[in-house]
Amino acid sequence: MLYCTKCQTVCADSTRTCPNCKRSRALRPIKDTDEVFFMKVSEAEAAELEEIFDAQAIRCRIEPVKAGFSVSTFDPEFMPTDKNIFVEYAYLERANELMAKEIEDEEMPEEDNVPQSRRLVIETVSVIAFLILVMLAVFAADAVAGWLKSLFM
Ligand SMILES: [Zn+2]
Repeated sequence: MLYCTKCQTVCADSTRTCPNCKRSRALRPIKDTDEVFFMKVSEAEAAELEEIFDAQAIRCRIEPVKAGFSVSTFDPEFMPTDKNIFVEYAYLERANELMAKEIEDEEMPEEDNVPQSRRLVIETVSVIAFLILVMLAVFAADAVAGWLKSLFM
């Protein structure tokens, strides 16, 4: 793989110019210790990621996004508090795996593991219980009304 020293991205060996910044002179074979641009995240996400990477002993560096660093000059999602995360090339694959896992975890909340049939039974029982309660309340109101009537007649 090749490394672009200008924009700190990884490119395929076959590339002549960096697909990111279009420079050719900045390309050289990548080293394990090269810091590779990983992703741009918000301040809160950066703190979260730093914690995850720290726990996994992944060497990363987080720095504020510099204006004009971004691939496209017009970036509607650019925030002044955004951070760029760089990961050493040797750890890049693991960082990617971790990110994929993080996204998966977010998409599938763990609380939703009650089987469908069981949930249906629980719902039916609670509906019946509710109806019984309503009937009891009506009967009770009738009884109280009858008793009040008998008091005054
Ligand atoms: Zn580049």
